[in-house]
Amino acid sequence: MKLDIIQKLKEHDLKVTPQRLTILDTLNRYGHASIDEIYKEVKKVHLSISLATVYKNITSLLQVKLIKELALNEAKSKYEIIKEPHSHLICKKCGSIEDINLSEQIEQNASKLASAKEFAAEETELNIYGLCKNCKQNN
Ligand SMILES: [Zn+2]
Ligand SMILES: [Zn+2]
Repeated sequence: MKLDIIQKLKEHDLKVTPQRLTILDTLNRYGHASIDEIYKEVKKVHLSISLATVYKNITSLLQVKLIKELALNEAKSKYEIIKEPHSHLICKKCGSIEDINLSEQIEQNASKLASAKEFAAEETELNIYGLCKNCKQNN
């Protein structure tokens, strides 16, 4: 994975800095992480890094589309490394996020509905909000 990340940074003309590697490594481990979570992890390795620097790095990673932002209802945005298109199960109680793959059928239906409105769809993203297995049991 490390190699892959270095390769990706180079492909996107971004300098390979230790800070960027740690940010991407954190996102890789967490799957989805908020800026606070990223900052906490990066600070363990780069003791003197500021939140502003983390923000700046996140912004450049967003600009080259190496990562994307998940805008969440009622919670701070989370970030994830861009991979194949997928949807999310988002727990409203504990904030956990799980990736799920939409069937091709659903995707095709969605783009049909979009083109019926003469809308040129580029991507379909579906977030499903509710309670995760753990939270449902303890409810
Ligand atoms: Zn939960
Ligand atoms: Zn995801």
